[in-house]
Amino acid sequence: MTELRCKVLIVGGGPGGYVAAIRAGELGLDTILVEADRLGGTCLNVGCIPSKALIHAADAVHALTEPHALNALGVSIAPPALDYARTIAWKDAIVTRLTTGVGALLKKAHVRSLRGRATLLDGKSALVHADTGEQRIHCEHLVIATGSEPMELAALPFGGDILSSTHALALTDVPRSLAVVGAGYIGMELGMAFAKLGAKVTIVEALPKILPLYDDELTQPVARSLADLGVETMLGARALGFADGALKVANAEGAGTTVAADKVLVAVGRRARRSRYGLETLDLAMAGPFLRIDERCATSMRNVWAIGDVTGEPMLAHRAMAQGEMVAEIIAGERRAFDHLAIPAICFTDPEIVAVGLSPDAAKAAHGEILIGLFPFRANGRAMTKQADEGFVRVVARADNHVVLGIHAVGAGVSELSAAFSLALEMGARLEDIAGTIHAHPTESEAFHEAALKALGKPLHI
Ligand code: FAD
Ligand code: NAD
Repeated sequence: MTELRCKVLIVGGGPGGYVAAIRAGELGLDTILVEADRLGGTCLNVGCIPSKALIHAADAVHALTEPHALNALGVSIAPPALDYARTIAWKDAIVTRLTTGVGALLKKAHVRSLRGRATLLDGKSALVHADTGEQRIHCEHLVIATGSEPMELAALPFGGDILSSTHALALTDVPRSLAVVGAGYIGMELGMAFAKLGAKVTIVEALPKILPLYDDELTQPVARSLADLGVETMLGARALGFADGALKVANAEGAGTTVAADKVLVAVGRRARRSRYGLETLDLAMAGPFLRIDERCATSMRNVWAIGDVTGEPMLAHRAMAQGEMVAEIIAGERRAFDHLAIPAICFTDPEIVAVGLSPDAAKAAHGEILIGLFPFRANGRAMTKQADEGFVRVVARADNHVVLGIHAVGAGVSELSAAFSLALEMGARLEDIAGTIHAHPTESEAFHEAALKALGKPLHI
């Protein structure tokens, strides 16, 4: 067994862990990163990136198989053919390019990267079963970045035709029919993508609405788009089991029914990865099923830090990265604290949804009287030229001093507006700051400008 020593040991090479390692290395901290599988974690290998690649491919296929939009432009086309094996190979090539890139970035930052499974021995050492043999690592600071894994339902254990998101992203054929259990992020993003790729999709959701995280005004355009795609949605329903190509479901009235499905995607949430690596020996304080951390990502044990999905919601890659960066800087001696104010949440459905800050209801509950400005894309020239005039931008601000509390949008491609929204919130913008900023014409970002003008009672283009 080899003995290694370092200042910082990071367990888990997902977006939380690898970003922490890069920044720690850049700051001159002697750092070791241990990853059991491929660098990049859930996000690069089986999450954000492969799912967005699949969504892009599905959009391309959909544009050709449902060519109304192209016809309107005077373009007519022959029916396309889909070679799904090539689609998957293209997606996998992007994943390989990015994960290899992470390895190169770690090397550049002088981080020692080990491939192997770490078992924590205490808050200052771990045993790693690495490719190169067994190694005991001693550290001054331990960063736990072990992420999350898909939750199973007792009635629908993963295996065979019952798929987690990881399995769904690795399918080699588009299933003829797909039942999706859970209308959250994964169920909606992948459900819509498979519908566009040609599967007959049925979504079974326990709550009475899709995407319960977002308010109804934001989800209505997505619900309309689901119906246009021919996706059947069973709300307030429970999946009871699967046999012989039929998913048994208790519908909202409690009556039993079945959904014919070649495959079932179970997407009912993810849970922190907490077992099988000695975490229990540290006996850290928990916040429910997650590791409890303070605003510096410190756990209940001195010099043991935790970042990313293992610390709970929101389970988003950009949150994990921001925490990782911060923890490295704190270990290097900087004074930092994590501010939850402006973590954007984006659902890559068609249309996309973006939310930053407080919803109108939460803003009202927290601050009393509020102003809301909503500007629809149907009044935005650029959206019309892109055949993307469904949706809107909405700005929520305090009525007394006009400080912006929340910014939301639904529409094609609005994910790219999220940077402007987050920046406005992070900088403590007032409505006047957005209204006084010159937004380029013709762009969809003008809807953001107009929403602020509307909240101030002086709209120009509506
Ligand atoms: P992870 O990415 O889960 O990484 C943890 C790593 O730790 C893993 O690589 C694991 O192998 C390793 N590990 C665990 N235990 C050990 C051990 N004992 N020894 C060594 N290594 C270990 N988020 C977004 O922000 N945007 C999106 O569009 C988005 N899309 C998603 C789509 C899907 C289908 C899924 C499943 C998730 C998506 N997410 C998205 C969520 C995002 O992937 C996670 O929030 C993010 O990956 C969390 O990062 P992390 O570093 O905390 O953990
Ligand atoms: P989720 O929490 O987004 O949605 C789960 C859905 O399943 C909810 O609507 C819930 O009401 C429903 N549900 C729970 N139990 C059920 C049951 N027994 N029957 C039917 N429905 C049930 O979880 P997810 O979609 O699995 O995604 C996991 C996490 O991954 C998310 O929390 C998110 O943080 C992350 N993610 C993010 C993105 C993104 O940022 N665009 C994309 C994918 C995943």
